[in-house]
Amino acid sequence: MDHFQYREGVLHAEDVSIPAIAAAVGTPFYCYSAATLTRHYRVFADALEGLDTRVCFSAKANGNLAVLRLLGNLGAGCDVVSGGELKRALAAGIPAEKIVFSGVGKTAEELALALDSGVGQINVESEAELNRLNDIASKVGQTAPIAFRVNPDVDAATHDKISTGRKEDKFGVAWEDAPRLYEVADALSGIDVRGVAVHIGSQITDLAPFETAFTKVAGLVENLRKAGIDIRTVDLGGGLGVPYKRDNTAPPSPAEYGDVVRRTVSNLGCTILFEPGRVIAANAGILVTKVVYVKPGETKEFVIVDAAMNDLVRPAMYDAHHDVLPVTEPNAGSAKKTIDIVGPVCETGDRFTRDATLSPLEEDDLIAFATAGAYGAVMASTYNTRPLVPEVMVNGDSFAIIRKRPAVEDLWALENLPDWMTDEN
Ligand SMILES: *Cc1c(COP(=O)(O)O)cnc(C)c1O
Repeated sequence: MDHFQYREGVLHAEDVSIPAIAAAVGTPFYCYSAATLTRHYRVFADALEGLDTRVCFSAKANGNLAVLRLLGNLGAGCDVVSGGELKRALAAGIPAEKIVFSGVGKTAEELALALDSGVGQINVESEAELNRLNDIASKVGQTAPIAFRVNPDVDAATHDKISTGRKEDKFGVAWEDAPRLYEVADALSGIDVRGVAVHIGSQITDLAPFETAFTKVAGLVENLRKAGIDIRTVDLGGGLGVPYKRDNTAPPSPAEYGDVVRRTVSNLGCTILFEPGRVIAANAGILVTKVVYVKPGETKEFVIVDAAMNDLVRPAMYDAHHDVLPVTEPNAGSAKKTIDIVGPVCETGDRFTRDATLSPLEEDDLIAFATAGAYGAVMASTYNTRPLVPEVMVNGDSFAIIRKRPAVEDLWALENLPDWMTDEN
């Protein structure tokens, strides 16, 4: 459930009308609902009630400081995948011990930063990383709290580009090699072996892959304990899917996911970590855009909007679907048309909908793409010298700009003409 609803025919975020925000900040812009973020976090946390858990919101899904602060105030930690995200989470006020550092290619600088900041857990993804971390920790006389991210070789049946738990994927240490690596790690003086981590992919809409992976993890924990290794945490990653189509059969609920967790790992006596991203943030955000032109084509109409693939790349990158919400609600019986909604970027892939059946749109109409709160603003670029679009957060009847629109000149502020060019002047 989200708080983007029509009131008297006009799309609102909570109690604020979308046209009011558009008038104040211009288009395009991302709009997040604080009540929806709060609700999604609570539903997820409530589904795990009674278990010893730590919910670490995946900052890469939506890293805006205000979003992280809001979730942090509700008790969330953060899952981060770069030194930048680590600094961001700390800047948002997330306590270091509630931060998990994941990622397949952490540099020496990033590992040193993680140790120095005192993060709760570093998820190690290779023997080379283990050795590097041990060296860094030993030099400063620290022990690094780690889990290995293991690759359970489970197909999460999601989009190929967001599947991470198959043995052909780059992530985690090989399942067969894990027991040996735990023995190696356990003998290193700079390493404190804490746990086992998995993350099998994103937008997972079937519980079976989770159940298979978590069952394998439980078995591994038992085997490691038999080998004398003290495993105290299991980290089950993120990945729970969300409904991108409002008319679709809903993906499994957090409650059903919680049942899988209870069935598989709750009797281990471990603290259970979670790294949800999409399920918290996706339906808490929309991207609002304005129609620039309507262009009749031979077979269908092109509606050209002022947002583009650089603002929301998911349709171009993953063939992702985002429901289109006209900001002015169409009359119930109004005729429909076959429409492609496209952006102005010079790429054919810059297309938000293909052959969508929608009520006709006109110049200057506002529309919103739903379910854009995760992997939206964070993946944006300035391709075509288009400044990043603002992010707005609504809370009840008020809203705040939580990232302002840069000036276009800011886009080349770090660029420099070499002396040998300016000398000629
Ligand atoms: C991306 C990612 C997540 C979050 O995945 P969602 O599908 O957004 O829940 C969690 N953990 C790791 C390691 C990730 O890379």
